[in-house]
Amino acid sequence: MFPVLLRPKSTGYIKLRSASAYDPPIIEPRYLTDPHDIKTMVEAMKITIKVGHSPPMRRLGSRLIDKVVPGCEGYKLYSDKYLACLARTLTHTIYHPVGTCKMGAADDPTSVVDPQLRVLGGVKGLRVADGSIFPSLIGGNTNAPIIMVAERLADMIKGKRLPAKSLPHSHYKPYTYDLDYNDVLDRNERDER
Ligand SMILES: Cc1cc2nc3c(=O)[nH]c(=O)nc-3n(C[C@H](O)[C@H](O)[C@H](O)COP(=O)(O)OP(=O)(O)OC[C@H]3O[C@@H](n4cnc5c(N)ncnc54)[C@H](O)[C@@H]3O)c2cc1C
Repeated sequence: MFPVLLRPKSTGYIKLRSASAYDPPIIEPRYLTDPHDIKTMVEAMKITIKVGHSPPMRRLGSRLIDKVVPGCEGYKLYSDKYLACLARTLTHTIYHPVGTCKMGAADDPTSVVDPQLRVLGGVKGLRVADGSIFPSLIGGNTNAPIIMVAERLADMIKGKRLPAKSLPHSHYKPYTYDLDYNDVLDRNERDER
């Protein structure tokens, strides 16, 4: 099991290196620079470990990897500090960088494009339709929403507006949780005792 930080607070930036279009830009993602993100990862790993120790997972042969992560030897195994080191050491992304060219109100100084995706600041005839216009990261996969952005802009340019479509009520079944998650964790703890 592998917890993923879906709503990171750390943000990076892209900057022009020089005025030359041939110079690659500076891309600085600044992953895990907000301490909140490390805290979230540590808590997520603790929950994951609990789930891994639960009787149903144990029945499937679930076990903790007992190899100490190189670079984290100085910390007590599975302590918060060890887990924080683990998060920083075995880090990888799921390739969802967005938001370097934020869509927003024209009077918002951090907006790069307006809600019609037109570049602000006096640039004429240029629109942007990709993941960069997201004002912030969505909590999931990025490909489908980016295709929606492109489809929406194509319709705007063509002056077309799709009629609102509502799902027939009979097809809509709200998803409900059978179990209270905290209750599951409490039960796992009782089982362990
Ligand atoms: C390995 C990997 C796995 C992924 N897996 C998933 C997944 O399972 N599900 C999911 O939803 N998302 C996934 N994603 C994320 C998703 O693919 C991207 O978020 C999405 O494709 C981004 O779309 P985009 O249009 O913003 O950018 P891109 O798809 O990167 O399109 C940018 C385009 O601009 C072109 N371009 C760049 N510079 C210039 C230039 N100067 N002039 C002209 N053209 C230029 C590029 O050639 C490219 O065609 C994955 C991404 C990666 C890298």
